[in-house]
Amino acid sequence: TVKTRFAPSPTGYLHVGGARTALYSWLYAKRHQGQFVLRIEDTDRERSTDESVEAIFQGMEWLGLGHDEGPFYQTHRFDRYKEQIENLLEQGKAYRCYCSKERLDALREEQQANKQNIGYDGHCRNLSTDEQDTSKPHVIRFKNPEEGKVVFNDLIKGEIAVSNSELDDLIIARTDGTPTYNFTVVVDDLDMEISHVIRGDDHVNNTPRQINMIEALGAKAPLYAHVPMILGDDGKRLSKRHGAVSVMQYRDQGYLPQAVLNYLVRLGWSHGDQEVFSLDEMIELFDLKDVNRAPSAFNTDKLNWLNQHYMKTLPAEEVLKHLQWHIDVAGLDLTSGPDIKSLIPAMAERVKTLQELVESVRYFYEDFEEFDAKAAKKHLRPVAREPLETIKAKIQAQYDWSADSLHALVSATADELELGMGKVGMPLRVAVTGSGMSPDLGVTLEWIGKDRVLTRIDKALE
Ligand code: GLU
Repeated sequence: TVKTRFAPSPTGYLHVGGARTALYSWLYAKRHQGQFVLRIEDTDRERSTDESVEAIFQGMEWLGLGHDEGPFYQTHRFDRYKEQIENLLEQGKAYRCYCSKERLDALREEQQANKQNIGYDGHCRNLSTDEQDTSKPHVIRFKNPEEGKVVFNDLIKGEIAVSNSELDDLIIARTDGTPTYNFTVVVDDLDMEISHVIRGDDHVNNTPRQINMIEALGAKAPLYAHVPMILGDDGKRLSKRHGAVSVMQYRDQGYLPQAVLNYLVRLGWSHGDQEVFSLDEMIELFDLKDVNRAPSAFNTDKLNWLNQHYMKTLPAEEVLKHLQWHIDVAGLDLTSGPDIKSLIPAMAERVKTLQELVESVRYFYEDFEEFDAKAAKKHLRPVAREPLETIKAKIQAQYDWSADSLHALVSATADELELGMGKVGMPLRVAVTGSGMSPDLGVTLEWIGKDRVLTRIDKALE
């Protein structure tokens, strides 16, 4: 049975790369009716924070990536790590190392001078019990096999082979007894019965060591899939310099989780030339063998395109669930004006984010102070008095307040005055919306409402 995990270190927010690995792990588990585990790797107490743990939960929740087991915290599992370290010591698969910092520094310098990179030289590997005074400060090292090589078949990168002579004896417990990163991962992946480790390829060099440790613990290694990194548009590793990297920043900027998920799944994975995937389709179609081996480049235009697609096509109630936050932030009061749900698909035609969507509907609910200068100069000033006054008179007498009849009213006016729509409709549009852009004029008038339309025409005529 398939069991995957997402194992973030809580040292910051949930970033785009982490979210994508989480998504791939989550999808793989769902696709195979398996389980998805959330594990917080918080053993680095200096850098781990509670806020970061919260930020990770918040990001996962916003994306809708729920876990079946956990969250587990590594800091709650120190007894277990200690037990396994003892286990390896007893079997002679780990040893106490008393080498001083001075000795290790000298060793490193010597290796650098000789352009070698063999790491720890195994000085304490074969100390007999008599030669040891365990009351002296020491670390514990894993006895890496000296012969042979570690071979594994990475589900994305293909076969990877590393000779054991390249792997030195890794510290698994520090002088204060606390376990190190590579060891806790190994113990957890075993105890949690992880079948597939899907993670960023910045960890690929750890994998041969982890496999050796797993085998020393008498178990069989899980399968591994290392996902290539994400690059910014300049070809460098994606970082803050490129703009938003935290998933919640995308929420703040007005992206829908559906768009972010779709964007992330395609960032490094493809299924033919299909671009749009519902979550169900992702679950049905996602496969590790279709993950790109090469790094993927972040492309904001594509994210914007997807976001607009989902704003237009998701049920308006669903969009509204996410829009509400932006409405609140923008302080827009919806109590007087049209039902926002009826506006969403049409208004989404002209914007890329929920934030822009809120601003684009503002004039349906609130009067504006100023006209867009360019639009006013082009269409309204000097004031288009005759068209506006004629329309005003017609509107005052108009009872059928539907988009179609309002549209007909405007074109009848244009005919009557023997003017083009541009000379009649545009001044009216600027007068009632403040800008030169809005949906179809009939629709716009209907949504703004008769009273507001009349007041705004008066104001434009002042
Ligand atoms: N905690 C590691 C990280 O955040 C991930 C370790 C793993 O997936 O094995 O980079």
